[in-house]
Amino acid sequence: MGDFNQTVVLDAIRRSPDGLSRIELAGATGLSAQTLSNIARRLLDQSLIVESGTVRKGRGKPRTVLTLNPTAGYAVGVHLDPAVLTFVILDLGGRVVAHSTRRTPVEPGAEAIVDVMASAVADLLTGAGVDRGLVLGVGVASPGPIDPEHGVVVDPPFLRGWHQVPLRSSLSEATGFPVVLEKDVAAAAVAEIWGSSSESPENFLFVYLGTGIGIGLVSGGSVLRGRTQNAGEVGHIVVDPDGPACTCGLRGCLAVTCMPQNLVQEAVLLGVLDYPVDNADPGAVETAFLDLCARAVDGKAARRIIDVSAERVAKAVSVLTNALDFDRVVFGGPYWPLLAGSYLRIVPDVLTRLTVAPHADGIQIEGTAFGTDVGAVGAACTVFTNALSPSPEQLLLRTDGPGPAQAARARR
Ligand SMILES: [Zn+2]
Repeated sequence: MGDFNQTVVLDAIRRSPDGLSRIELAGATGLSAQTLSNIARRLLDQSLIVESGTVRKGRGKPRTVLTLNPTAGYAVGVHLDPAVLTFVILDLGGRVVAHSTRRTPVEPGAEAIVDVMASAVADLLTGAGVDRGLVLGVGVASPGPIDPEHGVVVDPPFLRGWHQVPLRSSLSEATGFPVVLEKDVAAAAVAEIWGSSSESPENFLFVYLGTGIGIGLVSGGSVLRGRTQNAGEVGHIVVDPDGPACTCGLRGCLAVTCMPQNLVQEAVLLGVLDYPVDNADPGAVETAFLDLCARAVDGKAARRIIDVSAERVAKAVSVLTNALDFDRVVFGGPYWPLLAGSYLRIVPDVLTRLTVAPHADGIQIEGTAFGTDVGAVGAACTVFTNALSPSPEQLLLRTDGPGPAQAARARR
């Protein structure tokens, strides 16, 4: 129990940017003054917290304030998208202290990608001047499906030559750090929970727009991962009944109408893009998709393709918001910055039209505050959750520090 109490105390301190005195900590955690004093001593010895001045409240003697030492530990987050790799370093206080991106290697198989990940992580740590000894681990957000028990990426549709890849052990071997594997949409959802300033537990959908489209589900402040941690596969929601045939036997599924590769092919067919694009090459698809998005800024035909896809994604989202009675949708992922204009213009009306439940304020629609780092940040956060947090999923640190409301919530 000693270790558990220690994480409870550390968590309470972490959520309070102004720090807490020992007496306040005893009140927040329900631990006895003696237990608390022992734990505080251990945390001070480990440099996880520091004594940062005193406060006088009322007529009692001044109390020493304990605050987190953000530089006492770090986590690395890696986000594997078939087109782009994103890397972040988070300090214990939840700040992104460094970030980088690399183009995902096109060679089939995992070896080249793991090599690039390992060298990018090493470069990032060196560049940021972070001591490897202070790194608690690496979190990697990967396209699904995953086998969480064995740390294996099973058969991701857009990664060539990937079949039953033991990414957790390969990356651990290549980097020398323990690795946590998380599905991309779950990682993104973790980051959003973590960055939340809401006083009540969160309920929202996270819509991930990358080489694929996936959904993260958050209910009651927890990520819904499902039995095998692969929740969020929405590719076979029909959004255009007259659309192309899908491998599932239906027509016009999200998977065959709204993925970047579908939009790129549509653009080629319509002459909006005047060159062929190899759908089997995620890098080529990405280049063409970026081109299409650039043309959509002032080109009517290109914009129409993007707008129609936004409307279709909105229809799929409405199926889920109706099924789950959610009133908040957060968009993110590598392509969100390119698509935000179109989506924010189109999605609200579609959702208003299709929503069944009487949400007084309609459906709240927003973009992630973490930008394109969201998957990597969430993956790094999972490292802290596993290593330090007594209540997985309730880790609520913010990049600018949690407010008092969050600290109160944390105490439950
Ligand atoms: Zn289908």
